[in-house]
Amino acid sequence: MSRKIWILTMFPDFFRPLSEVGVVGQVFQGMRGEKFDLNTLYIPDFCDKGFKGVDSAPYGGGPGMVMRADVLKKALVEGVIEKGNYSLDNIKNELAVIFTAPRGTVWNSSTCKKFATEYLSSQSSKDLVFICGRYEGIDERFIEQYIDEVYCIGDYVLSGGEIAVMAIIDSAFRFSEGVLGNDESAMEDSFESNLLEHPQYTRPAEFEGLTVPKTLTSGNHKKINEWKNNKQVEMTKKWRPDLIEKDRK
Ligand code: SAH
Repeated sequence: MSRKIWILTMFPDFFRPLSEVGVVGQVFQGMRGEKFDLNTLYIPDFCDKGFKGVDSAPYGGGPGMVMRADVLKKALVEGVIEKGNYSLDNIKNELAVIFTAPRGTVWNSSTCKKFATEYLSSQSSKDLVFICGRYEGIDERFIEQYIDEVYCIGDYVLSGGEIAVMAIIDSAFRFSEGVLGNDESAMEDSFESNLLEHPQYTRPAEFEGLTVPKTLTSGNHKKINEWKNNKQVEMTKKWRPDLIEKDRK
């Protein structure tokens, strides 16, 4: 039986390409490692008043609108729990419900890897539910009652959680077994060991008068590895010196 990822959103259209295109699209098509089904639910389908009934003005005043806890609960119960044959009493064992918000745990290489191990590996048994916030966010009581994890993808405010959820799914699946063709690939990428990746070159050997660093075509693997390591340090010092500082702490 394939594992399931449920997404509650006001804009399901965001997720069609995610489930059809590229390497993560192939996971959802069952072409790479364990198959995951992506089920996108349109929140207004669970609200008697449709699109207009999903949000309401904040108590205490202030700008914008807030998504209602009762509507989100109905979407979770009728859309996910009933359709997916889970049980509300056992929800903590069957599902991990994830929200994204500026207040969340910072999503970086290490949280991403931890998440992939906990939720996407063959040992994990829980299915995942992502709640995409819109407007000013969602009623705090829904967070208190039903959200297990909150992640923030960066110190800026998005207009909605959809892009954050896509960034989380895309980056986490890169660490999932069988997803990247070459298993070493994810381990050699930027941020592993707090360094950026070295520069990459491919054919043609000359482009607009620029050649390829000689070491890379020397065939001397020891020298090539030395070159790669040195370049990683050089690139990180130039573009992300904060990563090196972080390593020293
Ligand atoms: N009023 C909120 C922002 C609401 S933005 C505040 O000041 O914190 C609307 C929705 O976009 C949020 O509910 C959240 O789900 C999502 N979002 C915005 N910025 C995000 C970020 N940096 N990381 C993850 N999700 C974010």
